[in-house]
Amino acid sequence: MISGHCNCGSVRFEVHGTPAGVFVCHCSICRRATGANGMAVVVVCNESFKWIQGQENIAQWAKPNSEWETWFCRICGSRLPGRNDAQRMFVPAGLLPGHGLGLTVKAHIWVHSRAEWDEVGDGGTRFAERFGGSTS
Ligand SMILES: [Zn+2]
Ligand SMILES: [Zn+2]
Repeated sequence: MISGHCNCGSVRFEVHGTPAGVFVCHCSICRRATGANGMAVVVVCNESFKWIQGQENIAQWAKPNSEWETWFCRICGSRLPGRNDAQRMFVPAGLLPGHGLGLTVKAHIWVHSRAEWDEVGDGGTRFAERFGGSTS
């Protein structure tokens, strides 16, 4: 079992089992959302994910005219887990312990949209746009 929480500690959750790997999205929406090179997440099935406390402090924002949605702590602004699809949650990888899980980057998506200063240097599969689309 892996425990995760936001920076202020008000929102806490658990993930059961070890996620398969990290997915990094380099799109411009994720860049603005994080202020960084994009967003790194793991994806877990709904049954493996459990909120422990602080769900009342979760804020959500959906970008109009897109499928992009985000969840964050109202108090400290940390990105939080959210709905990936009907069966799965995504969990921002930075909320998990940085060591001891054996995680590596499995895939990069929207690589063609990345910032010019964003160098992709690990072994993850690079997709030009969506996961499963043409590789870059
Ligand atoms: Zn917080
Ligand atoms: Zn993105």
